[in-house]
Amino acid sequence: MSEVGLEGLVAAGAQPRKVADGCTWSEGPVWVPEIGRLRWSDIPGNRIMAYDPVTNEMSVHRAGVEFTNGRAHFGGGQVVQCSHGRRAVEVEDTDGSTRILIDRYQGHRLNSPNDIVVRSDGTVWFSDPTYGITVPGEGHTGEPEYGDRFVFCFDPRSDTLRAVVSDIEEPNGLAFSPDETLLYVSDTSAARRTDRTGNHHIRAYDLDPQQRWASAKNGRVFAVVSPGLPDGFKVDERGNIWTSSAIGVQVFSPAGERLGIVEIPEVVGNLCFGGPDGRDLFVAASTGIYLLRTEVRDASHVLADAV
Ligand code: MG
Repeated sequence: MSEVGLEGLVAAGAQPRKVADGCTWSEGPVWVPEIGRLRWSDIPGNRIMAYDPVTNEMSVHRAGVEFTNGRAHFGGGQVVQCSHGRRAVEVEDTDGSTRILIDRYQGHRLNSPNDIVVRSDGTVWFSDPTYGITVPGEGHTGEPEYGDRFVFCFDPRSDTLRAVVSDIEEPNGLAFSPDETLLYVSDTSAARRTDRTGNHHIRAYDLDPQQRWASAKNGRVFAVVSPGLPDGFKVDERGNIWTSSAIGVQVFSPAGERLGIVEIPEVVGNLCFGGPDGRDLFVAASTGIYLLRTEVRDASHVLADAV
C-alpha cells in the first residue's frame, strides 16, 4: 500500500504511550481546558474517569453515571455528554451536577445517544444508535421508540431538535470539517453481526454553514475503515480524519486517502486532541488511554481562532 505516512502530523520520533489503565471499555474522551484534564467514559464500568497530565495520575471523576459515552466541551468548564442509561444528552456543570438537555424526539424517547459534537454556532449534533439499549452492560435494555436511528441537531437557543441524517444504519462517531461545510458520520452496523457483513465506513455530507437547520445533503462513503470499525473519530485543523479502528488510529486525508496508521496494541474506541497547546492526541483504547504527541490541533480551533 502506498501511504505517504504521518510525517508532519505526528511529532518526530513520537510513539504512543499508555498513561491510564484499568478500564473495561474506554470511550468519549474530551479535553477540558478550564481544568487541564482529560475526561472519558468507562462505559461498562459505569463511571467517568479523569487524567491529569501534570501529575500523570488517573482518577475516578464520578461513578454511577448512567453509562455515559461520548462527550464534547460546552464552554465555561461545562461538558455535554451522551447517556445510554438516561437515553439522553446531558450537560455536566463544573460542580459535577448534571441536567438533561434533550431526551425526546417528537414525544418519543431517544435510543441511546452515542457521540456528540458542538458546532461553532452552539448547536449540538449527536448520533443515536441502539447499542445502549441492546448491548448488555452498556445501559438498560429497552425498545427503540421513534423507530429509526438518526443523527440529530439540537439548538439550545430555540430548544428545538431536528433529525439531520437518516440514511445510516447505526450512526456512531461524528465530526465537522474545519470550515464546517462537511459533516462526517461513521456507520458501525457491522459491530454486532457475526458474519461482519454490516457497514464499517465513514460517510460525508454537505452542510450549509449559514443555515442552522440545514439538513446534511449528498451523503456518500468517504472511507472504509478496516480492520475493525470507525467508532469515534476527530478531524484535525488541516482537515485530516483521525479514526478509531481495531489496530490503532488510522489517518485519512480530506480526499479520503489513508495517510498512515498509529498502531495501538488494543482496540481503539475513540480519541481527541487536547493538552496545554491542543496537540496531544488522547486515544481511548479498551482498557485505558494512550497519549501521542502530534503537530496538529482539533478542527474546531480554526473557526474559533478566526473570531
Ligand atoms: Mg461511539
